[in-house]
Amino acid sequence: MLYAQVIVDISQEALDHTFSYIVPEEMTGAVFIGAVVRIPFGRGDRERKGYVVDLSDTCTLPPQMLKEIREVCTRESTGDGRLIALAGWMKETYGSTMFQASRTVLPVREKVETRQARILVRLADPQVITEQLEKYSSSRYRARTRILQALLTQESIPWAAASRELGMTPGVLTYLTENGLAEVRTEISQGLIDYGGQETKKNTAPELTENQRAALNQILEEFAVTDPRGLRRPVLLQGVTGSGKTLIYMEVIERVLAAGRQVIVLIPEIALTYQTVNRFYARFGSRVSVLNSRMSRGERYEQLRRARDGESSVMVGPRSALFTPFPDLGLIIIDEEHETTYKSEQSPRYHARETAVQRALMEDARVLLGSATPSLEAYSRAMEGTYRLVRMDARYGVFTLPPVKIVDMRQEFRKGNRSILSRTLQQELADCLEHGNQAMLFLNRRGYAAFVSCRNCGEVIKCPHCDVALSEHNNGRMICHYCGYETPRLTVCPVCGSPHIGGFKAGTQQVEKTVRDLLPQSRILRMDYDTTRTKGSYEKILSSFARHEADILIGTQMIVKGHDFPDVTLVGALAADLSLGSDGFRGAERTYQLLAQAAGRAGRGSKEGKALFQTYHPEHYSIRAAARQDYEAFYNEEMSFRSLMDYPPAAHLMAVLGSCADQDQLTLAMNCLRMFIGKLHPPASLHVIGPAPAAVEKVRDVYYRVLYLKHAQASALDAVRERLDRYIAMNEGFEDITIQYDMQ
Ligand code: ADP
Ligand code: ZN
Ligand code: ZN
Repeated sequence: MLYAQVIVDISQEALDHTFSYIVPEEMTGAVFIGAVVRIPFGRGDRERKGYVVDLSDTCTLPPQMLKEIREVCTRESTGDGRLIALAGWMKETYGSTMFQASRTVLPVREKVETRQARILVRLADPQVITEQLEKYSSSRYRARTRILQALLTQESIPWAAASRELGMTPGVLTYLTENGLAEVRTEISQGLIDYGGQETKKNTAPELTENQRAALNQILEEFAVTDPRGLRRPVLLQGVTGSGKTLIYMEVIERVLAAGRQVIVLIPEIALTYQTVNRFYARFGSRVSVLNSRMSRGERYEQLRRARDGESSVMVGPRSALFTPFPDLGLIIIDEEHETTYKSEQSPRYHARETAVQRALMEDARVLLGSATPSLEAYSRAMEGTYRLVRMDARYGVFTLPPVKIVDMRQEFRKGNRSILSRTLQQELADCLEHGNQAMLFLNRRGYAAFVSCRNCGEVIKCPHCDVALSEHNNGRMICHYCGYETPRLTVCPVCGSPHIGGFKAGTQQVEKTVRDLLPQSRILRMDYDTTRTKGSYEKILSSFARHEADILIGTQMIVKGHDFPDVTLVGALAADLSLGSDGFRGAERTYQLLAQAAGRAGRGSKEGKALFQTYHPEHYSIRAAARQDYEAFYNEEMSFRSLMDYPPAAHLMAVLGSCADQDQLTLAMNCLRMFIGKLHPPASLHVIGPAPAAVEKVRDVYYRVLYLKHAQASALDAVRERLDRYIAMNEGFEDITIQYDMQ
């Protein structure tokens, strides 16, 4: 007998409440996850509509208590039904419960408590504004001129920005409204970040360059191909920073909208700024909707409702915007496809890239991925031909990518310079400020791992089995977070014998102090976790720097993401190796990405820029390739490492993550899982690694341990996962233990 789990009405919050129904024999083939069914429900068995969220051949309730599904509504494939079907796929692929998966994809209704925000909206033509500007160009009308100038390039300005940053006064507002130039409206807050960066947008679509046109044509050509088997290749647009990828997205979007279909544009949360979103507003007007994590649940639901009801047709947002319930989705764009934020850290731990490809497959839509530094996953698929690769190698305009200097910090150390700043960087900084330019200094600190390396020769202490850096622990030991290998903390370098071996401890605060001591006259801003904890502080720092109120911006990698600061002519990566030793087997990939992006920050305006990488590994391929912006060279080296070690994307790697408040109980349980897998007689090609303490071993008194499984085929891992799930469900020892799966 086949049983279906049905949710009766997704507009009522009770998603966790599913009801079991019998699937009558004659319907067995027709009932699928996501199907809309008619069922008898409640008192008097009134007929209701429901969605099938799960199917199984067992049921915990006795069959005589269950009723049968009355009808499958085959023609009634709704948007929500399709999302539930997608949730079914996510559950199978990433290993979660159906409840977790449905909660991820469905827009759960929530009353809108409107956090009203005021905006200043332009009413007059730009022509009229220009005339006014000419009229009031004398210095007596500073605020008026500033506002007019802003209105010339922006259709609307958030009230907060107008009053705080542009100096709006009641007098200016009266002048604007009485002359019909602009008015104040109230809109649901879109929670956007506005840092008052320079606006360069035009309302008309700019002319494409020859390169851009060629790229666009290749994309359109690929999207026109309809394979009889339903194969739809995603396109990977690899374009250097500043090549005009956003412009290409908009060209493709325009065509999809013209065909009456809708578009989802995913961008990393950190890049979800007023400046970025405004480019979409400028081109597509009110058809654009935005989602972001600062919105209340009500505001969020309102945006999703607009999309479902056809009030909007372009959704711009972070990872979760992938589940926008558009009625006829035609295109999903993922900008900065390589970003780690596209992977969910909650069950189901889905990746937006793979999930987008699946959703597109189910709804006959297309996928366009963009990046200057693609993930190994996406690029290897492009190399296999599963994705179509389209490249743009030139920056828009006259400027080329900045030259990069690599500074060997081992030499600095041996010459007696113990400062975080090499002499070259000190010199360049002074030079830069002398010419009235700005500089950015960044520490690419990532994750939690504190690795151990030698300052004299650069050696990083690695796990002999996994070839990833060992992490330093308080208990005086070094440990591998993949296999659990442990060794006492070394006191001298095993290669050169130097006693100067340890973790890289310097933080942004220390960098700030060093720079202050060196250049006491300079104006410094610092952006890191500490200085951005309060709401709005992130925007404040960026807008202040954009207005050139500071000379140097010091920060973690949050400063290298997609911002345009035209006066920045120097970018320094203070410790290019920091990301090399963290982030497990992806350390080199992150390093390449961060450094290539950082270098791309310099020379975005009319001035030429340069970048400087300080490193203890001047010979490392990821650092050398990033300095030349040579992605292909990096890819080839990195891919051979992944293949050699069977790391993704050369093989599939699944983490089984266990957590429990009781450390001993957790250790025992994870060891049991390992033994159980051994008893399954898995193929010899299945590698089981660990269990080991997870990279984050303990959070709020809960311990984490992890077991890794490696195999060439994802299906082999899926099979083990299914057996594990059953074993865990039956075994009392796992009652207090939470198990999550994570496809790496
Ligand atoms: P990417 O997303 O690849 O980093 P952008 O799309 O942000 O690049 O483009 C970089 C800058 O160059 C933007 O300010 C954009 O407006 C400008 N730009 C790119 N192509 C053109 C074009 N064909 N005409 C006018 N401006 C362009
Ligand atoms: Zn050494
Ligand atoms: Zn190891």
